[in-house]
Amino acid sequence: MGQRPQKYQNQFKAFVVLPSYLKFSNNPASALTASLDVLKPDKAAILVDEHTRMDCLPLLDSDLPIIEIRSGEKNKTIDTCALIWQAMTDLGFSRKSLLINVGGGVIGDMGGFAASTYKRGIRFINYPSTLLSMVDASIGGKLGVDFKGLKNHIGVFRKPTEVVVCELFLQTLPHQQIRSGFAEVLKHALIFDEKYWELVKRIQPESADWSGIIKHSIEIKGQVVEDDPMETGLRKILNFGHSLGHAIESHFLDTEHELLHGEAIAIGMVLEGLISKQRGLLSSMQFEEMMEVITSTYAMVWLPAIDELLVELKQDKKNEGENLNFAIIDQIGHCLWDIPVQYDEIELALKTYSNTIQKD
Ligand code: NAD
Repeated sequence: MGQRPQKYQNQFKAFVVLPSYLKFSNNPASALTASLDVLKPDKAAILVDEHTRMDCLPLLDSDLPIIEIRSGEKNKTIDTCALIWQAMTDLGFSRKSLLINVGGGVIGDMGGFAASTYKRGIRFINYPSTLLSMVDASIGGKLGVDFKGLKNHIGVFRKPTEVVVCELFLQTLPHQQIRSGFAEVLKHALIFDEKYWELVKRIQPESADWSGIIKHSIEIKGQVVEDDPMETGLRKILNFGHSLGHAIESHFLDTEHELLHGEAIAIGMVLEGLISKQRGLLSSMQFEEMMEVITSTYAMVWLPAIDELLVELKQDKKNEGENLNFAIIDQIGHCLWDIPVQYDEIELALKTYSNTIQKD
């Protein structure tokens, strides 16, 4: 079982070091010009999907070549990646070239992976354009694609050359996507910072002022990944809600009940909170509080029985041998990792969850 090192127990503010590749800018066009001046790539191109081409690209005001792929998790595949590799080849990209990813977590994960594997790795910049990618997906260098329905099954760790966080992009982001990103904000508070929880639990995602939130969530994620970049210990706490959340997201992928990443993670946090409560770790009071905050923002949808989630759960990257290893909070603001969880505990949590949503 993993425990947070003593140095992180109390004074969060005292040790914050933001990742060196991170920049904040409200002028993405001038940030891009400045990056190109410094990095001097021989060739560069901008990767977008159909939404970020329309809504975000104009803010970059660039005449660089565009590589466009189709949006959405169902296109986060090796086939789409092959299209990016082909486009970079057609553009004559060398090892000195640069890929600029403009989009949410799907573009960031897949564009970063395509760049990191092209000619054994070229530089890439992320312009995260969703709340979720600003606060979470762009930071930490986890890159990859889904494979045969398994989330992020193929991928690498590699730091981006730069990440430019520009809140202006949020102006065109649909509310449902804002809510999805907010789930990762709630997660940061639940796993790491009780005081932050006191703030974020009152937020209405439809009308929030995000600047301080984005910065503090990046501080939390940034600190955790700087401490443990390859996820051998502490970094596993960032997976709270994700073991079951990813299984649920994969289960519904490309069906009429498809969930956004954050929507699935919100349900995953409820279920993994229930497992913690069942074990007598998380108090009933804190669980109820967490549940109330999450259910006031996210729909708790009908879920299948455990058997239908097992294929995905068994592939979770935190597992060891036959053991399913979870990260679970034992109190708000504190998370343990490498906790072996038994099937019957998950079954019980799913049952309690189903009974609760039926009552409501
Ligand atoms: P997404 O990338 O699918 O983007 C959501 C939608 O919003 C897309 O349709 C996109 O085209 C559109 N969009 C993006 N920016 C827009 C803007 N400014 N205006 C209008 N539309 C815009 O979803 P996401 O929530 O950003 O990312 C989810 C992905 O991130 C998942 O694949 C998840 O696995 C991954 N993720 C990765 C990490 C990591 O550490 N690498 C962490 C968390 C999540």
